[in-house]
Amino acid sequence: MRIAVAGFADETCTFCLEPTTEERFEPATLRGAAVLEENRGIPNYINGYIIAAEEAGAELVPIVYARKTPGGFQSWLTRACFDKYADEIAEGLRDAGELDGVLLALHGAMAVTGVPRPEAEIVRRARAAVGDVPIMVTLDLHANEDEEMAEVADGVFVIKTYPHVDTEETGAAAARCLIETIRGNIDPVVACHRPGIVSASIFQATSYHPMKDVLARCAEWEEREPDLCYLAVAPGYAYADVPDIGMSVWAVADGDRDLAERAAADVADFAWSLRHAFARDLPGPRAAVEEVMALVEDGQKPVVIADGADRIGDTTHVLRELLRGGAKNWAIPGIADPTVARELEESASVGDTVTVTVGGWYNEASGDPVEISGTVEFMGRPRYQLVGPMGKGSTVQDGFVARLNLGDNRHVVVSERMRGSNDSAGLTSVGIDIEGLDIIVLKDRVHHRAFWDDVAKVDFPINAPGIGYADLRELEYENVPGGAFPINRDGAE
Ligand SMILES: [Zn+2]
Repeated sequence: MRIAVAGFADETCTFCLEPTTEERFEPATLRGAAVLEENRGIPNYINGYIIAAEEAGAELVPIVYARKTPGGFQSWLTRACFDKYADEIAEGLRDAGELDGVLLALHGAMAVTGVPRPEAEIVRRARAAVGDVPIMVTLDLHANEDEEMAEVADGVFVIKTYPHVDTEETGAAAARCLIETIRGNIDPVVACHRPGIVSASIFQATSYHPMKDVLARCAEWEEREPDLCYLAVAPGYAYADVPDIGMSVWAVADGDRDLAERAAADVADFAWSLRHAFARDLPGPRAAVEEVMALVEDGQKPVVIADGADRIGDTTHVLRELLRGGAKNWAIPGIADPTVARELEESASVGDTVTVTVGGWYNEASGDPVEISGTVEFMGRPRYQLVGPMGKGSTVQDGFVARLNLGDNRHVVVSERMRGSNDSAGLTSVGIDIEGLDIIVLKDRVHHRAFWDDVAKVDFPINAPGIGYADLRELEYENVPGGAFPINRDGAE
């Protein structure tokens, strides 16, 4: 049994300004044997395919896995960039000899100029290359997809965790379903239902209401109905202004169309009943910092402030409020400012006292630049391994960073590019002792919770200005069709 493996994944923030070209993909793209070897043993979709194939004695035929380099501020993929990799997949499949099936590791939130539903188009081109063999896809929970994908793919498998810690499991589930299909033991049918909800990522953590309840409903269906192979929900990615934006429910059933439709429709209806929990009001930066300082005063510390709106890393709203409020013992692991980072690299040394004006350069939502003075305690390009449940063991190579200690154990890391800290490694790698911190400011929505929920007493999401507002009504969408709560439908009914 020969199964081809390919991937082309992106989560495109279309509210960013610069188009994405192949330059962002090419350095990280894997080809041929490297597709399997570079992913072997790392908990991800491809390793899941490998595990299932080895169990079944199936041969995997690696084609190409196109993915973006981390960081950066790019928006829509150009048509040329999309065609390059979508066609490379198709040509690789054509040249791969006789195949029994295809596994595609996609994401679902790719946005391409001139291609309204890029993932469905990738599958369509793959189909044209391989003909009538089953093609199954794995998708991120942030996928924006609709019935077109249900029509072209023979199986659609969406991960069920955010933070994403089940990519390997989902990859294995997809591969097992494909293998059983090839063996003739399963006849998969796919149903997709869309409740009409678009939600900010910050409301989609799967260990908490409302996603926890929606996924529990899926689990009940799966338990009750042996012919239901897989039932999952992609709440979607709100920062891609695309026609298939928003939540979709995906059922894969063995031969039973009616069962797949009923299950997906039921979960979609249930999600709609919880719609207001997918679009809550959160405090702005000033009110949030005041509340967080009161929590710290009360011994509820450390607190993680989740400033999910910042996709560039340059916003200054929380920094400004921390300084204004006189908070102590805090760290911001990255204010992205390539110009100031370069100046510091060229003119400062560890031990110097410096004054710089950082951030607030990308657009008006970024806030004004903020002046900070402190001692440079770290400079360099740290290389470190992740220690949290997400991506544990994988290596991160930062651009240039300089850590300034502003006194009172207050730390700002000025970084060449967007820099997060979904576990402690991003902080310890620049010499910050996390034990002494009361407040950690992360430019993140949910992924950090896989690690930080065990460390922090409180996770505090906020609605700050930025490209990725928690309140979606602040954003100007052009491609979203009517009936999308809360963007153009008030959900009062
Ligand atoms: Zn995701």
